[in-house]
Amino acid sequence: MAIALPPEARLALDLLEQAGFEAWLVGGSVRDACLGLPPGDIDLATSALPAQTQAVFAGHRTFPTGLSHGTLTVKIGRLTLEVTTYRVDGDYSDRRHPDQVRFVRDIHQDLARRDFTCNAMAWHPARGLLDPCGGQADCRRGLLRAVGEPGLRFEEDALRVLRALRFACQLGFAIEEGTLRAMMDKGQGLGSVSAERIAGELNRALVSGHSAAALARYPRVLLLALPELNSLFDDPAAWDAGLRRLRDTPASLPLRWAALFVDSAPQVDPPPGLCWPDPGATPLRPAAALLEACLARLKQPGALRARAVTLAQYARSDIRPDELPLWLSALGYEAVDSLLALRQAGEGISPELAALRAQSAARREGGAPLALKDLAISGQDLLALGYQEGQVLGQALERLLKLVLTGQTDNSKEALRALARSWLHPGARG
Ligand code: ATP
Ligand code: MG
Repeated sequence: MAIALPPEARLALDLLEQAGFEAWLVGGSVRDACLGLPPGDIDLATSALPAQTQAVFAGHRTFPTGLSHGTLTVKIGRLTLEVTTYRVDGDYSDRRHPDQVRFVRDIHQDLARRDFTCNAMAWHPARGLLDPCGGQADCRRGLLRAVGEPGLRFEEDALRVLRALRFACQLGFAIEEGTLRAMMDKGQGLGSVSAERIAGELNRALVSGHSAAALARYPRVLLLALPELNSLFDDPAAWDAGLRRLRDTPASLPLRWAALFVDSAPQVDPPPGLCWPDPGATPLRPAAALLEACLARLKQPGALRARAVTLAQYARSDIRPDELPLWLSALGYEAVDSLLALRQAGEGISPELAALRAQSAARREGGAPLALKDLAISGQDLLALGYQEGQVLGQALERLLKLVLTGQTDNSKEALRALARSWLHPGARG
């Protein structure tokens, strides 16, 4: 097997070997090359101890980010790569981090501590592929198989349960039977894995190309990490609809979270319409509230939470063409386009939906007014008309914006001034 190694990575290998150490390309980039996929990040494994690796790359920019675990980050030209000393993990008393790592001299030991056979291969431009665990054959079969005794491996580090699901979502691999059984057996260990690491794997899984197919096949693995979706899973039609939305929406993180959660809780009352200009004033519908609680539990950043929850909140709302500008004004183009994409994924495209999408695109292209700052009139103009600073002035501006957005007035200074004047002096003419 030949791998087109970037010249900077080749230089790093050569520098290590010229200094008398052994070095290999390992991990995801070997797997991806086996699969004919473009490489992700480049990882090298070496017999050099961390201090020796530092000495080898003394002439380059290095970052000692993971040095206690043997990893030195090296920047060569525009390429950043990780160089890690051959190591085996110590005990995992917390089921998360090895208590200590032990550096070793033999690449075989280093490969044996890795999670899945497809990730446990090494490659060298002269020595070729080193594949003691049968990774290449499993890549050909599209099979994810734990290295060694699966039960032990998931017990050591329960995050591997979600790594398996993530790789199934990314690569479209099936999970080997014994590996899957061990994942389900040891899945409760996820309880002691940090929320951030769990979310990291889930996020990567959800935006992957094969996520819907993999979650259709391994739903119970997902439920180990997301018990919030238990009742969705218990309703086969709703669960299938969620997976369809996942399959048919663009790979954006908030959109994919919302796609999964839209029907996660029963909605008794009709879904809330838009509360313009302040959508936050509407109480969350149950599915959106469940998503909010879930993303908070997973300690996800506020921006992702807000965007995903907004989509889950309004995914079932009817957006009428005459009100589309109000939606765009309140939520922004990205959110509204995502709402339309969610609906399209759920219902298929319809002439109405196509018209809404076209209307949104045309407004965006034409730079149509969206916010108070886009009005042809300002607070200063209203003051000049005799308005006082304060709530009444603010409400007048909002009212003008609404009339502009709904096409009831031109966005011209004269038209808006005349309207504002008429509100200030009801009954007055001119
Ligand atoms: P990606 O393309 O997503 O970066 P990757 O396989 O490179 O995939 P990383 O998380 O970057 O994944 O890890 C690099 C390598 O380190 C993996 O291929 C695997 O060999 C090993 N590895 C990473 N995390 C674990 C783990 N929790 N347990 C065992 N081995 C692991
Ligand atoms: Mg990687």
